[in-house]
Amino acid sequence: MEEMREMYRNLGISDKIYDYSNDILEGLKERFDNIDKNAEYNQLKVINAMQKNRVAEMHLSGTTGYGYNDSGRDTLEQVYADIFKTESALVRPQITCGTHALNVALSANLRPGDELLSPVGKPYDTMDEIIGIRPSKGSLKEYGVTYSQVDLLADGSFDYNGIKQAINSRTKLVTIQRSKGYASRPTLSVERIGELIRFIKNIKPDVICMVDNCYGEFVERIEPSQAGADMVVGSLIKNPGGGLAPCGGYIAGTKECVEQAAFRLSSPGLGKEVGATLGVNSSFYQGLFLAPTVVAGALKGAIFAANAYEKLGFKVIPDGKEPRYDIIQAVELGSDKGLIAFCKGIQAAAPVDSFVTPEPWAMPGYDSDVIMAAGAFVSGSSIELSADGPLKPPYSVYFQGGLTWYHAKLGIMMSMQKMSDAGLINL
Ligand SMILES: *Cc1c(COP(=O)(O)O)cnc(C)c1O
Repeated sequence: MEEMREMYRNLGISDKIYDYSNDILEGLKERFDNIDKNAEYNQLKVINAMQKNRVAEMHLSGTTGYGYNDSGRDTLEQVYADIFKTESALVRPQITCGTHALNVALSANLRPGDELLSPVGKPYDTMDEIIGIRPSKGSLKEYGVTYSQVDLLADGSFDYNGIKQAINSRTKLVTIQRSKGYASRPTLSVERIGELIRFIKNIKPDVICMVDNCYGEFVERIEPSQAGADMVVGSLIKNPGGGLAPCGGYIAGTKECVEQAAFRLSSPGLGKEVGATLGVNSSFYQGLFLAPTVVAGALKGAIFAANAYEKLGFKVIPDGKEPRYDIIQAVELGSDKGLIAFCKGIQAAAPVDSFVTPEPWAMPGYDSDVIMAAGAFVSGSSIELSADGPLKPPYSVYFQGGLTWYHAKLGIMMSMQKMSDAGLINL
């Protein structure tokens, strides 16, 4: 153990932080064991899908030009479909991010005169302009698609009455966000999503239920597509890319929904047939292969942070004991100094850009300064250890990721070190 202490000392972690962290971790063994079991289950799921589809060395290289007959791409899409238990999937580097994937899924499956319903409150900020909640060029609103929203009740439960009333003859698609994102509502378990979908389909069987699956993949043993969702949508620079995918997004779902999406992403008539993968196939496969383990590391980091900061007296969401349905952890640090110190710690622990100091700045679209910390191999990747928060009360930091548990652990220890150096916590 003394050797280990010395390694942490060399990185700037004091004995106090080291001992405190080990005490916290003593109490988390059983939870970590359960996370490992889920990761094992999901690892087998991934390997099984790869074997079943006879993934071969030739699939790891890519095409150029139109990308006709890209068997690596087509096989990967079948692997995704098998993992998510869907009829089909679209997994493409041409999908630039999660927001883009959601836009493709929505705009492909809605037509003028249709209505989109969110029964779980306001969706993620970047959806505002897709839907037209905030006016934007090319929004669904501009194309004559209306939007209706039913908020969760104060205790976080579904407003079944309100949802029933909101569903009408024009309701074509229901969007359900699994992760809380930056809202304060609880993240939805796949089980709860299933209950909601059953309720909705009971009222209107032909409505398309789409789940924004960002940050949720591989956290549980089942995915929302196994609980009735017609489409699940996400980003490859989050969970399923396993940290290796350099870009991309996915849409998995029914044959009809995915075909609509493919016709929208490329062109009517072309659909899934085109889209060169250049060199990314091998990182898509390998990232997916690693994703269950990477997600497990990120979850351990989130739970370690929740427990470490909770014991120091901070409000943490979710709390130290709650079950997890995504990889995001929020900590209310209570002061600008606390938020800045936390982010400095995350940055100082990074493998890349550890020597830079994050500073608050006036990011477009936000009503206060924002601070962000990340030292990532893939720019903007949030399956890598990253933290950010707006400089306004209650000075919450949202952090997520960590390609390895040991890195997530160091990041959180370093955040406590910076808090301690600034006199903000007392161990
Ligand atoms: C990250 C995220 C998005 C958007 O993904 P980007 O890749 O940032 O565009 C959408 N919804 C949720 C819940 C997210 O977490």
